[in-house]
Amino acid sequence: MKAFTYQRAASTAQAAEAAIKPGARIIAGGTNLLDLMKLQVETPSALIDINHLPLDKIEETSEGGLRVGALVRNSDLAADLRVRQRYGVLSRALLAGASAQLRNKATTGGNLLQRTRCYYFYDVTKPCNKRDPGSGCAAFAGFNRIHAVLGASDACIATHPSDMAVAMRTLDARVETADRDGERRVIPIADFHRLPGKTPEIETSLRPGEIITAVTLPPPPPGIHVYRKVRDRASYAFALVSVAAIVDVGRGGIRSARLAFGGLAHKPWRVAAAEERLANAPAGTKTSEAAADAVLDGARGHGGNDFKIPLTRRMIRAVLAEITRT
Ligand code: SF4
Repeated sequence: MKAFTYQRAASTAQAAEAAIKPGARIIAGGTNLLDLMKLQVETPSALIDINHLPLDKIEETSEGGLRVGALVRNSDLAADLRVRQRYGVLSRALLAGASAQLRNKATTGGNLLQRTRCYYFYDVTKPCNKRDPGSGCAAFAGFNRIHAVLGASDACIATHPSDMAVAMRTLDARVETADRDGERRVIPIADFHRLPGKTPEIETSLRPGEIITAVTLPPPPPGIHVYRKVRDRASYAFALVSVAAIVDVGRGGIRSARLAFGGLAHKPWRVAAAEERLANAPAGTKTSEAAADAVLDGARGHGGNDFKIPLTRRMIRAVLAEITRT
């Protein structure tokens, strides 16, 4: 591992000031960054430790939601009674991610910023436009079982690995940030993660030195919360496809629905047209097929991941059938 300096930040502004320097990286739980450093994928010259900043609270907001500090651990967020009762989709998504030990260390902010699990990104002997811009993409002609079928580009077909972010996308969470001047920004989670385009190395809309301080959850929409994840083994595996669903069902069928997907794209995938097809529609196969058509519009496999397209369709049908009991 390359030598680096270590600094414990005394304030958010100090952390942001230090983080803006080239080669500096913020560290909190370190559950992803340390792996990347051991493999020489990340070679920071300085680590800025923010674990002692007062960003570890879950607080009620005046609008009836929750404000989750960036340093709240994944296990604490999943176990919080308010989250379990009001944001079941988020609690379930968190518990579907990683292992108990990792959830005890991983933070809310770090979870949003974790890097893709593309095998070639982690192998520094292989070309990867995300790790080494302009070098190429080994995944196109390689083993691409876990890769994207939506929103990808000629430069990169990686997926975002977070379960938590998928649930937050259904909840319309807002990411709060601060910079070294104390300037604060609120970023809708829909705009926080980016599609790869020609610059897959730029993964979020964070500016240099900007630090996540909290994630705000608006009041939960009405409906039944479900998080379903298909993976290659029953625990400690990333999603091949996952779906976070909040569906409000009445006597006449579905009143409203929110669906977001993991494992399909470089960011949590949510399609307004699919939710429009579900709103005020009778429950049943025809409705779920119409929604699946909208979600999968433009989907394209790359050989090893072709199965994700029919799998997503089946997951939509199964989740809606479970919720509407049809
Ligand atoms: Fe790198 Fe993206 Fe290609 Fe994976 S899919 S090798 S992360 S450029």
